[in-house]
Amino acid sequence: MDIFDKYATIIGRHDKVLEAGTDPFAVRVDEMLSATEAMIGGRRTILLGTNNYLGLTFDPTAIDASVEAARRDGTGTTGSRIANGNYAQHQELELELAAFLKRRSCMVFTTGYQANLAMIAGVAGPRDVIFMDSDSHASIYDGCTLSGAKVIRFRHNDPDDLDRRLARSPEGECKLIIVEGLYSILGDTAPLKAFAEVKKKHGAWLMVDEAHSLGVYGGEGRGVAEAQDCEADVDFVVGTFSKSLAAIGGFGAANHPRFDCLRFCSRPYMFTASPSPASIASARASLRRMANDPNLRAAIWNNAERLHAGLRQLGYTVAAAPGPVAAIRLPDEATAVAAWNRLLQLGVYVNLAVPPGTPNGACLLRCSLSAAHAPAQIDEVLGRFERLSQSLRELATA
Ligand code: PMP
Repeated sequence: MDIFDKYATIIGRHDKVLEAGTDPFAVRVDEMLSATEAMIGGRRTILLGTNNYLGLTFDPTAIDASVEAARRDGTGTTGSRIANGNYAQHQELELELAAFLKRRSCMVFTTGYQANLAMIAGVAGPRDVIFMDSDSHASIYDGCTLSGAKVIRFRHNDPDDLDRRLARSPEGECKLIIVEGLYSILGDTAPLKAFAEVKKKHGAWLMVDEAHSLGVYGGEGRGVAEAQDCEADVDFVVGTFSKSLAAIGGFGAANHPRFDCLRFCSRPYMFTASPSPASIASARASLRRMANDPNLRAAIWNNAERLHAGLRQLGYTVAAAPGPVAAIRLPDEATAVAAWNRLLQLGVYVNLAVPPGTPNGACLLRCSLSAAHAPAQIDEVLGRFERLSQSLRELATA
């Protein structure tokens, strides 16, 4: 027996995808030309599938800050926050994030993925019960597993289903509800206000992962909870630096007076190297820009309206209301793979999203917007989507 036999089915599916053209899960960027364009396979390609929501990856101030930090503090920290990797900048970023989020405390983690592991497995333990949205990101699933808590999944974005499940749960257990602000595959937002009501009714705790909504939703960019005016009911906020903040790292924030005990109780914080000086410095610079430049938010929303309206006009089915993600539904995996390849040939990179990475077996082309897209680029992209429709019609009649 081969130890990789367990992957035979998924390897077979991947081989089929390879037969259709480029490997969508190993696209190589040869050169980044800007926040919205890259050389891929020898072709100048418009990037419509990143998480560069505010377009800050080439922000000159952030680049300078990051170069300066590398010169001053070195390329890596070589250790964890509880050993030798606790630099002044980590703490400064934590204070700045806490102030931005209007929270008592904030902790910085090495990636967004680890932020969920650290927050979930830190906050919940084997004697607690976690109620998680069934469409949650892999890092939330993995954090739940690591916590050792009993895990109950409720129907995606369904506060009534959550209410029923909480009602069946015995008294005397700590109950933690975990949802996301914006779901990155379909681009739909959570009804956080309704979830907050259910949480209060049952005396539970609420954690919200605002990874994709930070900087985009809310009057000041704090996310979907700010947009729905229910931040006071969110006990724990999780986020990442890898999207709007254009760096690498993650964070958790809370008002709980004992929150900082996670610094010596949460293993994904304690037993991994702290984020690099360059990454922390660019996250700080981008946070400042995000907090002080509302035009970035206005730009991504304008682009979102333009792309969503254009796609609908071309006859595409977009999964959710206009927002930073536009997920186009296609009938099956073969069509989605063919469409994805055609778009890449046309010089547009989007994300191919197929099961098991999608809810309800959906086959999607996930498009995402950036504040750095020029409106003319969106129009150019729409022209290429028009050519894609022609190819899809030919494919359907072949
Ligand atoms: N949470 C959610 C909802 C995500 O979509 C992601 C990554 N796409 C993460 C956490 C992990 O963030 P990172 O990639 O920065 O580790």
